[in-house]
Amino acid sequence: MNTLQSIVESIWDQVDVVLGWRVGYDPLHPVPTFVRDRKDIASLIWNPLCAPNLSVFLAKFFRTASQRDKKIGILAKGCDSRSLTALIQEGLVDRDRLLIVGLTCPGTVDPDALAAARTQSGPITAVAFANGMVEITSADGVECVPLDRVIERRCQRCRHAHPVLYDVVLHDFEPRPVPKDPFAHVEALENQSLEARKAFWLKELERCLRCYACRNACPLCVCQDHCLAESRTPKWVTQKDTVADKFLFHMIHTLHLAGRCTECGECERACPMKIPVGLLKEKTAQIAMDLWHYESGTDPGARPPLLSYDASVTGI
Ligand code: SF4
Ligand code: SF4
Ligand code: SF4
Repeated sequence: MNTLQSIVESIWDQVDVVLGWRVGYDPLHPVPTFVRDRKDIASLIWNPLCAPNLSVFLAKFFRTASQRDKKIGILAKGCDSRSLTALIQEGLVDRDRLLIVGLTCPGTVDPDALAAARTQSGPITAVAFANGMVEITSADGVECVPLDRVIERRCQRCRHAHPVLYDVVLHDFEPRPVPKDPFAHVEALENQSLEARKAFWLKELERCLRCYACRNACPLCVCQDHCLAESRTPKWVTQKDTVADKFLFHMIHTLHLAGRCTECGECERACPMKIPVGLLKEKTAQIAMDLWHYESGTDPGARPPLLSYDASVTGI
């Protein structure tokens, strides 16, 4: 039977480095890792706690002169594989420089939801996954909660839990089934009155710190070193602590991702203030599907609609 380690061993001679996850500072928080030494393959892990989308590192990795010609093996959940596909579509990453280890995905754990679902309070010492359950070990003993109860919002609406692009696939977990209405969260908000929606976003964005974690976590937000939100010439957004300036930043981010966002949810997951910024991007993804029948990051050969936009087309 294939294991993560056996698969990485099998591709090792074809790549210069492998990008994956390893155990972090506690059992709940695996961290990204670059494996450059064969003996470190043993440290790689994959489970529903491995939330970070590793494709965010690629554009910078290949911009570094000493790494431009390297070939990288990368672990990719379904949503991560869409990000990889979008990077390839836009010519930001060369497909030949990637060896993709696809991972069928049951959803990733929202640590806040897990904390809320627990009845015990002792520090967690171990977490295991089997039969759709999360088994949590602490000084208080062992308790189990259904994985479905504690997955992140992005996973509740995921349409590609089976990777869309890969060279080899590891089927350790059953992929999540496609939900009936992936845009239910957006539609629930849209069904409210204009005043209610305005109040919702004012309340949410008022909390924004403009830390730019949402931008920095985005695999497709590749011009962040020259971001309009921080540009002085021209100066689009001031540093004033006003909702108007915060809203403008989020509009810039959303519109720069229109027709490109792969709905990986990393912007929302990275937000320290728990602002549901993913909803803004989900709306643009929905519009791209409605207008152009286009789903970003699902076809490496497809041309993104805003790169091929024709102003003479009516009905847009
Ligand atoms: S969005 Fe889909 S592929 Fe990504 S972590 Fe959630 S279930 Fe897995
Ligand atoms: S991560 Fe959250 S707080 Fe930081 S800029 Fe983005 S929305 Fe604002
Ligand atoms: S905008 Fe958010 S959901 Fe879309 S690709 Fe970027 S991080 Fe992922």
